[in-house]
This record gives sequence, C-alpha cells and structure tokens, in this order.
Amino acid sequence: MPEAPKKSFKATGHDYCLAEKNKKALQFIEDVTTNADQVQKRVLAEILTRNAHVEYLHRHGLGGHTDRDTFKKLMPVITYEDLQPDITRIANGDTSLILCSNPISEFLTSSGTSGGERKLMPTIEEELERRSLLYSLLMPVMSQSVQGLEKGKGMYFLFIKSEAKTPGGLVARPVLTSYYKSSHFRERPYDPYTNYTSPNETILCPDSYQSMYSQMLCGLVQNKEVLRVGAVFASGFIRAIRFLEKHWTLLCRDIRTGTIDQQITDPSVREAVMRVLKPDPKLADFVEGECRKESWQGIITRLWPNTKYVDVIVTGTMSQYIPTLDYYSNGLPLVCTMYASSECYFGVNLNPLCKPSEVSYTLIPTMAYFEFLPVHRNNGTNSISVPKSLNDKEQQDLVDLVDVKLGQEYELVVTTYAGLYRYRVGDVLRVAGFKNKAPQFNFVCRKNVVLSIDSDKTDEVELQAAVKNAVNHLMPFDATLTEYTSYADTTTIPGHYVLYWELSLRGSTPIPPSVFEDCCLTVEESLNSVYRQGRVSDKSIGPLEMKIVESGTFDKLMDYAISLGASINQYKTPRCVKFAPIIELLNSRVVSNYFSPKCPKWIPGHKQWCNKN
Ligand code: AMP
Repeated sequence: MPEAPKKSFKATGHDYCLAEKNKKALQFIEDVTTNADQVQKRVLAEILTRNAHVEYLHRHGLGGHTDRDTFKKLMPVITYEDLQPDITRIANGDTSLILCSNPISEFLTSSGTSGGERKLMPTIEEELERRSLLYSLLMPVMSQSVQGLEKGKGMYFLFIKSEAKTPGGLVARPVLTSYYKSSHFRERPYDPYTNYTSPNETILCPDSYQSMYSQMLCGLVQNKEVLRVGAVFASGFIRAIRFLEKHWTLLCRDIRTGTIDQQITDPSVREAVMRVLKPDPKLADFVEGECRKESWQGIITRLWPNTKYVDVIVTGTMSQYIPTLDYYSNGLPLVCTMYASSECYFGVNLNPLCKPSEVSYTLIPTMAYFEFLPVHRNNGTNSISVPKSLNDKEQQDLVDLVDVKLGQEYELVVTTYAGLYRYRVGDVLRVAGFKNKAPQFNFVCRKNVVLSIDSDKTDEVELQAAVKNAVNHLMPFDATLTEYTSYADTTTIPGHYVLYWELSLRGSTPIPPSVFEDCCLTVEESLNSVYRQGRVSDKSIGPLEMKIVESGTFDKLMDYAISLGASINQYKTPRCVKFAPIIELLNSRVVSNYFSPKCPKWIPGHKQWCNKN
C-alpha cells in the first residue's frame, strides 16, 4: 500500500532530511515495540479515561475505571451484531455520547458484512492521524531493504468508491475512500515517498473507467521514472494489467499524439493528465511493440524497466493471485507492507522483501488496545474453531499483546479510540516471532469466509442461503439439488465464483438453460452487497458460473477425500474447494455450464436507507 504524508515525522524548517525522517520513524518502531506492554496499558487507560462518560461503558458498569483488570472483568467481548442497535442509533442521527466522547465524523463501510450489508464502523476525526502515522512507517522500513526509492516514482492504481449518507446524515464510505478524499492525502506536502505517477484528480475520479484509464496513461508516459508499482490488493493490480491488455491501442494513440481519448470527459482529470502528457511517438512505438507481442510474461518489467518491486497485499485470500503476479512481473519481489481494516489500522511488515508465505505483521502498540482470543484446530479435520460467544471466564482469559505464544493462533480483538470495546475483528492470526516485546503475526484467515475474489467475503451460511433461494427455480421440473460445492476461479480476469451442482432429476421435462441462468442470477442477488458492488460498480468480479456435474460426482469426491486420510464418519462435503486435484475431478465430470446473464441489483448505501442519498 502506498505511503502517506509524513504528518507524524515531519522534518523541521525547510531543510528536508529524508535520512533523519527515516531514522525517526524506525526509532519510533523500536521504542513502541520495546515498551509494548507499557504502551498498551497507556492506550487502554487513555481510551477509557476520555470515554469514561459514554453510555456504552456505563451500561456495562465500568464507571470510570481505567485499569485492565476491571476492564477485562466487566466488558463483554462482542461482535458487530451486539453493537448493531447502537450503530443504528448513531446512523439515524442520535448524537448523544453512545460509544465515544468525540463526535463520530463518519462511518467506514467494511467489506465484512452483517445481514448482507456492509458493517458500519464509527470513526472520529483524529483516527486519520493514526492511519497516517502507520502509513508513514512503511517507506522508512522499505528503504532499509531497497535503496534509492526517493529518486523515482510509485505507480499505484488507487480508486475511490461510492459513498452514501445514513438517515441521520453521516457519510458512509470505505476507509480508503475516506483517506484519499481527506486533506491528509490530497494536500500532502511534497515528499519523494508519496510521489506517484497518478495525479490526485485521477485517483479521486468517481468514474472507474476514467480513473483507471487516466492512471494507466500517466503511468505509461512516466515509465522510466517508475521504481515501484502496486495497488492495495493483488486483485486490483491484476485488473489494471488486464485493462492495459484491452485498451493499449487507445492509450498508445494518446501517447503518440499527446491528446486524451474523448471517453475521458471529467475536466479535472483531463487537465491533470495534460500536465504530464506530451506527444511522444517513440514511447508510443515502444509500448505498442511490447503490447503487441503474443506473450505478456514480464510485461511489468518490460514497460516499466526500473521497477524494483510490486507493492500489493498477497496474504490471506489474495495469495491466489501470486502465480499471475509472478508471471506478469517476471518474479519481482511481491511486497506486503501493512495489515489494516476499517475498524483500525493494525501493523506493518518489518521484513518487506520476505517471501509472501512468510509475511508477518508487527502490530503497532499505539494504534489500539489489542487482545487475543486463542483459537483451536479440530482434531482430524484441522478446521479452525473459535467460540461464537464467550463465557465470563473466557472473556477474562483473553491474552494481552505481549503475552501471546509463538506458534499459537488467535482471533484479534480490539479496543479503539473511536469507540469499539473488545470487538472481535474476525481475523485469525498466528504468532510468527517478536520484534522486541511486540509479536509479529502471520495472517491465517478471515473466520468462516469460503469465497473471495476481491474485497468480497462470502461465508458458508450466506452461500447456503443463496443456493437455497436459487434451487426454487428447479421445483417445476421436479429436480432437486443433491450436493453442491463452490470454487473461486481466479484464472479468469476478473475472477468469478463457480458453483458445482449435482442434481437428482425425476421429471421428464428437460430443464432449459434459461432456468439455470436464473439460478445463477438468484444466487448473485442473494449474496451480500460487497459481492454485488464488485459485480456492478467495481467490475472486479465476473458473472457467476454454474457447472452441473454427473450424478455420483460427489461420491467420488468423498472417496478421494477418504483416500487422502479423511475419516468416513466425519466427512462432510466441503462447501468450497481449493485443492487442484479436487477441482480437476469436478471439472472432469461437468455435463453443462451456465453463467449469470446479467448483473445483480446493487445500490450504494444500506437497503434500509431507502436510497435517500
Ligand atoms: P475492511 O474492513 O473492508 O477494510 O477489510 C479489512 C480486512 O481485510 C481485515 O480484517 C482482513 O481480513 C483483510 N486484510 C487487510 N489487510 C490484510 C493483509 N495485509 N493481509 C490479509 N488480509 C488483510
């Protein structure tokens, strides 16, 4: 992820001293990781002191106590659903001090969903500073491993998403949209580490085609200056390459003539692009020559020859994109710099050139108060088991940041300055090591998520409900669904969900393809709003595909799993498959396949807000 302005480690006076700033940032990391426990104690006391009078803490009887023991004894460990009534009050315009003594400045809409809608995370103005601080650590860390990054630019594909207003008038938008629109980003002073090929106007353009086109054009015309490339998530970066594959002729024409294609109508974008665009037939010939070649292997290093690394998150579900990135970048280092969420920005990777499989994030103890709920693996199935709700003892037994054990897995629980108290984030992390006293975590997974292509996160229960709705289309044909599973197919760009269905057909009328297509669309209509936004607005997810498999396929799947050591008694059909031989087995038995014929419905904002925005 790109670097933010150095709010926190600003050089004094006019003499700009990068080395000094880097040193200060690295010293900050040393200090807070060395004193991790003291910092955590202070953070909790600060949060509880300033919020001593808020309704939520009173409700649980905290009554001004700011010590860890009383906090752990009285405050429940919660999920979003527990908080929803309070969130709804805030969204509807209740400005009393419910969660936080600072005014809630906006809601950050998480890609995690509840009841099919994005979760709304309250935030306060000063959290922007905290996010900026985390960003400001990234390049000083990076500069220890890669020298000279200040001598060129970063080509990052960054986008804003649509925003909505709650009935009470608060803005609700994703955290990065909030950040890019903030003065922290827009009005950042010159800094060689935040020197991007994309002018702000191109990033802030709400039209995703115009935004991508103009960012790619600016990246191409400054190709020699580019030292690092990236996007937030791997999926976004691959989409940018795909965009280039589709639109390079237009882009080359613009480079040749020094004019911008007419489809780019946003005046501020046109003006910003014109500041960097000059007729350059030589460059146009070069780009055209490279794009025309049959193979796109190494296209990144061919078009941007000075690139030293690709800055994208490839941990968690994004690891599915590693082979594609390796192909396009000819094996450049894939760098995962940070771990963050709408609830809170968590930590940084202090060893950014490590292999993606070894990435660990050091949680920065000033960001929030962190606790850890131990996670266990089921014997036999090795699946993760985390209790849904905790008893009193379990609530008190949550582990503090400095007390986690090497190799153990935990669910992350945060208490934030913005008014989340002992909130379960839903991520499972494994302790991989320590930086001084602060643990470093591998990201293991998001709890329960079975399918993900971009920022969508579909869990088993949602998938089951969506399939149940779709199966209704089969009733008139006296057909029933005997088994199903799913697969996130990222070999297409954008990737798409695939469902494998095995049917039992008793009726004599054949089922027309249009009925299966209706099934596909019904599944999509039933999935959460992040999925549907990915389909409709971001175009980051392709049409859902349904593959009908021969009868007996799922028995074969079970035989195969048992041959690999699964227990017959415990065997359950997996609702999502990832293992290549299993996908091959399923694909070898497909009798027909269908795609969703159109996009599902999606509107910005929650459906219960009646789209008053
Ligand atoms: P959101 O609330 O939409 O911002 O999504 C935040 C979630 O994205 C986190 O809770 C993680 O599940 C996931 N995420 C964020 N950063 C990373 C990372 N570096 N590696 C893996 N997953 C991540």
